[in-house]
Amino acid sequence: TDVLVCGGTGCTSSNSEKIIEKLQEEIARHGLEDEVNVVRTGCFGLCALGPIMIVYPEGSFYSMVQVEDIPEIVEEHLLKGKAVKRLLYKETVSEDGSIRSLSETPFYAKQRRIALRNCGVINPEDISEYIAVDGYTALAKVLKEMTPQEVIGVMKASGLRGRGGAGFPTGLKWSFAAANQADQKYVCCNADEGDPGAFMDRSILEGDPHTVLEAMTIAGYAIGSTQGYIYIRAEYPIAVKRLQIALRQSREKGFLGKNIFGSGFDFDIELRLGAGAFVCGEETALMTSIEGKRGEPRPRPPFPALKGLFQKPTILNNVETWANITQIILNGAEWFHSIGTEKSAGTKVFALGGKINHTGLVEVPMGTTLREIVEEIGGGVPNGHAFKAAQTGGPSGGCIPASELDIKIDYDNLTAIGAMMGSGGMIVMDDTTCMVDIAKFFLEFTVDESCGKCTPCRVGTRRLLELLTKITDGKGTLEDIDRMEELCYYLKENSLCALGQTAPNPVLSTLKYFRDEYIAHVTEHR
Ligand code: SF4
Repeated sequence: TDVLVCGGTGCTSSNSEKIIEKLQEEIARHGLEDEVNVVRTGCFGLCALGPIMIVYPEGSFYSMVQVEDIPEIVEEHLLKGKAVKRLLYKETVSEDGSIRSLSETPFYAKQRRIALRNCGVINPEDISEYIAVDGYTALAKVLKEMTPQEVIGVMKASGLRGRGGAGFPTGLKWSFAAANQADQKYVCCNADEGDPGAFMDRSILEGDPHTVLEAMTIAGYAIGSTQGYIYIRAEYPIAVKRLQIALRQSREKGFLGKNIFGSGFDFDIELRLGAGAFVCGEETALMTSIEGKRGEPRPRPPFPALKGLFQKPTILNNVETWANITQIILNGAEWFHSIGTEKSAGTKVFALGGKINHTGLVEVPMGTTLREIVEEIGGGVPNGHAFKAAQTGGPSGGCIPASELDIKIDYDNLTAIGAMMGSGGMIVMDDTTCMVDIAKFFLEFTVDESCGKCTPCRVGTRRLLELLTKITDGKGTLEDIDRMEELCYYLKENSLCALGQTAPNPVLSTLKYFRDEYIAHVTEHR
């Protein structure tokens, strides 16, 4: 019997470590150590129901488990074989009392897990569990059977686009860095996830760190680099710890270091911890920070593929992008391209939060509608309220109103309606939410996080917030709304980096769909 307990940040913060301790204690008390294997995994996705525990082989899914429940679960289930019904996730129990597979529940049925495939499945601190699910076979295939050009060809043909927000084609990015000659090149991973409400990258690193290490090594081979860096925010201690363990185990097995798989190819990876500045998620600021300098963006061009980290050709991809690479190598470009939409291949991970029943982490094929995510996977809006809008892409994104619930989510469709895929934060608002307040919340965040290097953003975001505050305080005028809109476009056009260029998005998209609420703020208070 295997008992899987979620060891992601969500469940850990609601006591899953104590649950594991108690489980081990009770298992020992009943002399079941040889029969029951307790595994600490990464996130299962259904964070709203944490702490989560699954007992295999039956797949009994226990939700909201408390330490006090453990003696009963061990005695009744592990010893006598009778599941503790009151703790089972009700969606997994059929009318006749039998256990339904998780994949048949509304939360999981429409999901397709590629980047999250190992999260909640393996112990991320044990490399042998990663190897048991084909870990490092993509790297072996690449080093033994493929040329660097072939690897890049597969990436290009797969249609994979960067999952960090901008959606730039990954294979193309790699090909630029491969084509530039230099004595050293670098491969970087952006794990500086900073959007409020986003936890996709953190969960992947907590649940499956080796997939990122393996993918970065493959990229090193493809572009001719021997050194990688993972830039991760220090606020992610569990992910940092698991990455450190994974790096050590990978080196011990010879998957990192000199002469990997006897191929003559050398590659290693170092961690760099960020101090929590949102702007360090911007690629040039991230590289400047790795160099040991203040994390401020640099003008582009030159682009990182030519002059990136330490002025050398560099590729930077985010965690979720990396988590797709080994599967593309193993299953082929056509397989990946067959999932999702024509211009947005594959899947996307979303951190679903806000006014939604199933808060958690979901991965769906591109082209899934917002309605399917909110109503079916997310279980709808709680307390009988109506869906009003979803904010995608955090402070740089925009809102999708109820009239667009049937939009098929991919990069281009979201951009067309003034929202943005962003890295994958998806915050649901109900009919009690004031959209002007939402815009103000995100703007306050960007004002705080503006690095101050360029005037349009440093001063412009503050002026924008002043106008918005005037409006929410009931002191604004209709002219203030127009002035604010004008300032938004000025900021978009003149800021140096994406933080400033996208900072007005929450204001612009709420203005587009909920202008009446702004007008009510300036007229109804008078
Ligand atoms: Fe810094 Fe904002 Fe200018 Fe970016 S746009 S460089 S965050 S001041």
